[in-house]
Amino acid sequence: MDPRTDDVAVEHFMDWLRDAHAMEQQAETMLTSMARRLENYPDLKLRIEQHLEETRQQARLLATCIERRGGDTSSLKDLVGKAVAMGQGLSGMFATDEVVKGAMFSYAFEHLEIAAYRNLIGAARTVGDTETQQVCERILAEEEAMADWLERHQDSIAARYLELSRVPGAQAKR
Ligand code: MG
Ligand code: FE
Repeated sequence: MDPRTDDVAVEHFMDWLRDAHAMEQQAETMLTSMARRLENYPDLKLRIEQHLEETRQQARLLATCIERRGGDTSSLKDLVGKAVAMGQGLSGMFATDEVVKGAMFSYAFEHLEIAAYRNLIGAARTVGDTETQQVCERILAEEEAMADWLERHQDSIAARYLELSRVPGAQAKR
């Protein structure tokens, strides 16, 4: 038996990789529904579409890391994550300030991702998986860039929402 297969750090590392994969699938569902619904916020829509592409690639990269380490990605968590994301997407649609709540939630979600990849980078270093460490560093940079974009645009999104809300017949919420 490979002495590393029962190493507790290796097991946690695999769990965290799977969690991250589920998180990216959840992100893909949420970003897809946000991008599809946005009409009057073209900059936000474009940035979300860019990050959606990054997110799909992140999920693929993680799956590759998981499989290289001998794990599989067809977990129950992925399905649960998708269902949760669907619920979040649906609840957001009923908010009268959908775009504002969506931007807020996205900002929080990016920081959840940032924290997850920092954990993974530390764990990858611990177990000596340089390739996965590099993948997670690359993904971390994309999450930080998205969080930074949202941070810089949050006030203008809220201001535009309030402006459009004053215009009769305008679709301010998305
Ligand atoms: Mg991500
Ligand atoms: Fe992200």
